[in-house]
Amino acid sequence: MKLAVIGAGWAGLAAALSLQDRGAHVTVFEAAPLPGGRARGVDDIHMGNIDNGQHLMLGAYTETIKLIESLHPGQNIDQRLVREPLHLESADGTFRLHAPRLPAPFNTLVALLFTKGLPTSDRVLALRMMVSCRLGGWQARPGETAARLLSRYQQSTLLSRKLWSPLCLAALNTPLDSSCAQLFLNVLRDSLDAHREASDLLIPRLDLTELWPAAASRALTMRYRHLVRKVQAKPTHVEIDGEVFDGCVVATPPYAAARILFDQAEVTASVMRASADMRTPEQESEISLFRMLGAFNYRAIATLTLELESDWRLPRSMMMLDENHSRGHVGQWVFNRIGHNKQITVVISDSSDFLKQDRARFVSDIASQVREQTARHPQCKAPMPDVRYQRLIVEKRATFDATPDLARPANRSPWPRITLAGDWTDTGYPAVLEGAVRSGRSAAAVLLRQLGSSSARE
Ligand SMILES: Cc1cc2nc3c(=O)[nH]c(=O)nc-3n(C[C@H](O)[C@H](O)[C@H](O)COP(=O)(O)OP(=O)(O)OC[C@H]3O[C@@H](n4cnc5c(N)ncnc54)[C@H](O)[C@@H]3O)c2cc1C
Repeated sequence: MKLAVIGAGWAGLAAALSLQDRGAHVTVFEAAPLPGGRARGVDDIHMGNIDNGQHLMLGAYTETIKLIESLHPGQNIDQRLVREPLHLESADGTFRLHAPRLPAPFNTLVALLFTKGLPTSDRVLALRMMVSCRLGGWQARPGETAARLLSRYQQSTLLSRKLWSPLCLAALNTPLDSSCAQLFLNVLRDSLDAHREASDLLIPRLDLTELWPAAASRALTMRYRHLVRKVQAKPTHVEIDGEVFDGCVVATPPYAAARILFDQAEVTASVMRASADMRTPEQESEISLFRMLGAFNYRAIATLTLELESDWRLPRSMMMLDENHSRGHVGQWVFNRIGHNKQITVVISDSSDFLKQDRARFVSDIASQVREQTARHPQCKAPMPDVRYQRLIVEKRATFDATPDLARPANRSPWPRITLAGDWTDTGYPAVLEGAVRSGRSAAAVLLRQLGSSSARE
């Protein structure tokens, strides 16, 4: 069977490997000159291999971990990822939440109960919310935002600011007052209420392309620098820019999927032609997918990689930063770059509003934010050295806006020979790596199932 995958991000590569494992001949079309999509390595002239964006993974990313292991047989996963128990600590040391090595959910409950930097009343409130959510099956109310969920459980402003807001922004890249409570609860459920290791923090030791997309692409037939313009579904095959395949997985972002799957003029004509009750079910589902793809909004993430004049390490691999927008202190997380003792990265989530500012000022304010806050940490051995090189990478459409009531398409499309993959499909997760990998595997399985049944029919 001759199949194609469009897009070599984590979803597309996961789909392509699944299809190939089941005996298909797979060609991957990718517009860029390398694999990885929104999670890829970048070659910096001064700093060597850095990433387009600092990525954090969780022990709950089971499918991703399995995929990395399967591509590197005989190698311990610890050679590719640093694994640490859940530990959230502010750069100045005033806030700390640490999960002891206890069976779940006691590890996270103890972590909450002994959080440093929160009054006892707040720790009890946080604990009570976790227990109630667990008893309620981690169900939010329909259309509820994370902010409303927190107010329903009477979480204080301090608790929201110190704990829930940074966690929500890190997981959903959407602020509390507009983010989907159900997606937030799904992340809490699968990381804090699963097996003990699910809440572990995993930080890549290698750049994101080397982590596994490079090995995946060596095992596949890749067509780089091919921006697919048109996919046409026919009863017996699909045509990708005129080339014939038995079927394909479209694993591009939604805006690109809309462009290559639909002719805007045709969709408009078919909407105009028939009133809703006169449309065929096929027309109806095409229009519905077209609308869903167009309904996504996006949020930016900026990552600032700093190379310092001399070796310097944060007291922990990853620390939280306090924000003060009036001083340009807009970073939320700072990371040691593993294996590069002079390099750190700062993450600025939901960064669209800050990007209109002067870049040089933006960077120097963030460097001051890290320097000032770490200087107050009791275990910080020396002040942060001067910055030698810096690289600010802004991904303008880093994630979709994870609002309540956002309708996300399934892997199935209106055409049996085409399935959809990507972190934006209906994975139950926000836009995260594990969602991308799971959707890729699932889109591959759905495609094979549908092709099996369609060839049986022919
Ligand atoms: C800065 C940043 C930080 C992040 N941090 C985290 C984190 O800490 N933890 C986490 O879990 N997730 C994080 N994410 C989210 C994570 O990166 C994404 O969920 C994941 O990479 C999405 O993978 P994907 O395959 O669905 O999409 P993409 O990676 O977008 O892949 C789509 C691919 O399709 C290609 N393409 C598009 N149009 C065409 C076309 N017409 N023809 C051919 N190819 C095409 C693109 O070039 C791209 O390679 C972060 C994202 C960013 C940007």
